[in-house]
Amino acid sequence: MKSTPEDAEILRQAAAAIVERGHVVALTGAGISVDSGIPDFRSPGGIWDRFDPMEYAQIEAFRANPEKVWKMLRALGDMVGDAEPNPGHIGLAQLERLGFLKTVITQNVDRLHQRAGNTDVVEFHGSDQYLVCLQCGKRYEDKEVNQRGKDDAPRCECNAVLKPDVVFFGEPIPEEALVRAQMAARECKVMMVVGTSAVVFPASQIPFAAKRTGATVIEVNLEATPLTGSVTDIFLKGSSSTILPKLVETIEETIV
Ligand code: ZN
Repeated sequence: MKSTPEDAEILRQAAAAIVERGHVVALTGAGISVDSGIPDFRSPGGIWDRFDPMEYAQIEAFRANPEKVWKMLRALGDMVGDAEPNPGHIGLAQLERLGFLKTVITQNVDRLHQRAGNTDVVEFHGSDQYLVCLQCGKRYEDKEVNQRGKDDAPRCECNAVLKPDVVFFGEPIPEEALVRAQMAARECKVMMVVGTSAVVFPASQIPFAAKRTGATVIEVNLEATPLTGSVTDIFLKGSSSTILPKLVETIEETIV
């Protein structure tokens, strides 16, 4: 992406909004992890091209045939491999260290925000780092019980098959995550929407909730989304791994 004087001006506007208004909350989605090598599941070549989500990502499908779903989960594990936070995640962690960013609300399950250094992360869709037993409710760390390269599904000590602690289709969003996200959205002065078109409930509610209480909405996406023409005040077009480091740089220049 070649940057133009207009791009630099929009970056300065975004930096000024963050510095003047403080208290930033970010809503992130698959787009921020693409540059860590995690493909957007919904995009062509993504996991849902190879595995029909109706057959593999429904909670009923898991209950009916967990061994089959675990084959998909293993393939997914191989695709995601040892993903590391990219400059987009690191940019958000720097925004927290600078005292502006308070909370990250994410639709991702990869824990890359926590690994980059963000300390208050609301996970709408759970986390793939934990496994949970649907029989007895016991939780395990994935790396404790799940060995890559194995064929059979990991099991609980009660012998039931374990499920990744991520939200499958047909399962509710964890109540606590919903409540925390709504509170964060109402309290923020700047809402950053990064790498998501936020069209899927409940993420779709968050930018609107922030806007209603007077927040400035800054959007960072590769392409315009339904938000761009509605709630977005400042649209930074481009990949989050390019834009966020530049935004942090611009903020640092502003505050010295
Ligand atoms: Zn169990």
